[in-house]
Amino acid sequence: MKEIVLIKVGEIVLKGLNRKNFESMLIKNIKHALNGTSRCKVNSAQSTIYVEPLYDDADIEEICERLQKVFGIVAFHRAAVAEKTMQDITSVALSYLEDYLDTASTFKVEAKRSDKKFPLNSPQICRQLGHDILQKFDHLSVDVHNPDVQVTVEVRDFGAYIHAGVIKGAGGVPVGSSGNGTILISGGIDSPVAAWMMAKRGLRLNAVHFASPPYTSQRAEDKVVRLLQKVAGYAGNITMYVVPFTEIQETIRNKCPEELFTIIMRRLMMQISQHIAQDTGSSCLITGESLGQVASQTMQAIVTTDEAADMVVFRPLIGMDKEEIVKISRKIDTFDISIEPYEDCCTVFTPKHPRTKPVLKYVKQAQEDAGFDSMVETALNNLKVINISSSK
Ligand code: ATP
Ligand code: MG
Repeated sequence: MKEIVLIKVGEIVLKGLNRKNFESMLIKNIKHALNGTSRCKVNSAQSTIYVEPLYDDADIEEICERLQKVFGIVAFHRAAVAEKTMQDITSVALSYLEDYLDTASTFKVEAKRSDKKFPLNSPQICRQLGHDILQKFDHLSVDVHNPDVQVTVEVRDFGAYIHAGVIKGAGGVPVGSSGNGTILISGGIDSPVAAWMMAKRGLRLNAVHFASPPYTSQRAEDKVVRLLQKVAGYAGNITMYVVPFTEIQETIRNKCPEELFTIIMRRLMMQISQHIAQDTGSSCLITGESLGQVASQTMQAIVTTDEAADMVVFRPLIGMDKEEIVKISRKIDTFDISIEPYEDCCTVFTPKHPRTKPVLKYVKQAQEDAGFDSMVETALNNLKVINISSSK
């Protein structure tokens, strides 16, 4: 029996003139997400995107799993295809839905007939199919208000489709439809979640990671790659830029007041990330900061950090508790990687008593006195570029 997937575009949050762009972007992203699985035709007609496997032995489970990670899809149906005759619709429905109907007590049939040339109208389709179902499964009764199984028949231009259930999608808007953003990614729990959240709101991502060998190890960097692979399962391909940060951090340690180590380091991270973002066509930075989580994330610290960049900085976790963040990290499968114990550059040379209410004027002065400009340039000239595709 031939199965396809029906994605209702009407369920995507689409507005006015953007609708067409969103839809074509979504189709492109769906095709990309299905790369490497059973070959499918993906096209749209009648406010629906059809994902149609080209061969009978297609792995429809795998296709559905991948579609569940495509932002912009609220929900979709896995459906059987029938010819547009009542006889075929009935025979396909009875065998396709056998397992569902066997175990249910009540059901209901709903019909949608967009092909008005089909000889039966929607109520007639419902009545006929309902009757045939009752004949074969005589333990069932009809419940139009709260059925265990809702059988839906859609008679459309190119065929009839039968389904009984809806699969929840990832929601959000298509990746790319909001532009490009640069995530500052560490190996922690928060930043991969922040990346995922902004991809969900339509940003295509690239990533910046600061590494300070020998204080941080190659394994710490590999961990970040694995985290981004998980995020890329939703966000599509991500280019990661690894910034050599050792010289800058050593200079902070040697030349800046200890209580300002972290805040100055974070300002330099922002400045360097902004350069990379601008050079790579991103219009915003993204961090995993959450207000009050640590000393460098007090309101004053964030204000002082923010001043270092002119670019808008999105902090999607700003109002979230750790528990809420952890819940998402488990859902997107980054949590177990995040808790692997490797050093991050943020945890080397941490001051005993970081300033929680830094004064911008003094921080800027200390940063200026230490003189980082040429080091920033050197770091930018020595970026390592890693291309990350989703780990499917
Ligand atoms: P995370 O769990 O994301 O590491 P955190 O709670 O540990 O966050 P910080 O270490 O203060 O918080 O970092 C705050 C934010 O700064 C991170 O969410 C991330 O966006 C960015 N960041 C921290 N370390 C790095 C790094 N090594 N490279 C790039 N960005 C970083
Ligand atoms: Mg961290």
